[in-house]
Amino acid sequence: MKPALAIKNLTVSYDNHPILHNLNLSIDQGSLVAFVGPNGSGKSTLMQSIMGLLPSSGTIAIFDQPSQYQRHKIAYIPQRSCVDWTFPISAFDVVMMGRYGHLKFGQRPSDQDRIITQQALEKVALTKIANQPIGQLSGGQQQRVFLARALAQQADMYIMDEPFAGVDRVTEEIMLNLFLQLKQDKKTIIVVHHDIMTVKKYFDSVFLMNRKIIAHGPTATTLTAANMNQTFRSCIDIHDLNFL
Ligand code: ADP
Ligand code: MG
Repeated sequence: MKPALAIKNLTVSYDNHPILHNLNLSIDQGSLVAFVGPNGSGKSTLMQSIMGLLPSSGTIAIFDQPSQYQRHKIAYIPQRSCVDWTFPISAFDVVMMGRYGHLKFGQRPSDQDRIITQQALEKVALTKIANQPIGQLSGGQQQRVFLARALAQQADMYIMDEPFAGVDRVTEEIMLNLFLQLKQDKKTIIVVHHDIMTVKKYFDSVFLMNRKIIAHGPTATTLTAANMNQTFRSCIDIHDLNFL
């Protein structure tokens, strides 16, 4: 089977200073993959590069085609800190934005688009607050709105940058269940995530990164104390890892 995502020799720099250098990786279709690494290790940079939001060199293939022709197949949820939450728009309209890629230029959303939007809101248990401005919602509800927008997009690949940061338990549960459903539908789900316990419980495989890929593979065999120590070198004490 062709990989969902194949990255070769990816180099990304800020102000001529390379953050990622000749990075290579491949992710199978239908997998639920976590990216784990300390702050500043280049996780968001990598996700933004996949989405074509940063200048980079190297090649990124999505479903075996150059990424520039394939990005409509990806639903991307950026890190919360990168979103302007004061923008005056209702939850429903944010989710409807997921349908825009399916519309022709100048075309208005159809009844079918509205139904898909409504269904996406139902899947994240937010129908009651659909008309509220996103700025008035809790952190967990805001994250669910973005997840609903991703669902409405009916993408083949989902890239989510720290979707669990600052969310409540209900939201966490809804998101994890949706990931498992998306996986059953053979979607590819890539999640930047911190909590090793949930990575172990829910994810098939993991990439440990710190400016480069330190280790990758099935969670059970990759989240070893040695690999974690190498990834988080000088960030945490190895004694904090005694649950591994
Ligand atoms: P992570 O998501 O793993 O915390 P990032 O990809 O956000 O890491 O950042 C990786 C490195 O690149 C950090 O050292 C960060 O300071 C730097 N960086 C991120 N964005 C920019 C930017 N827009 N301009 C300059 N440096 C940046
Ligand atoms: Mg980040």
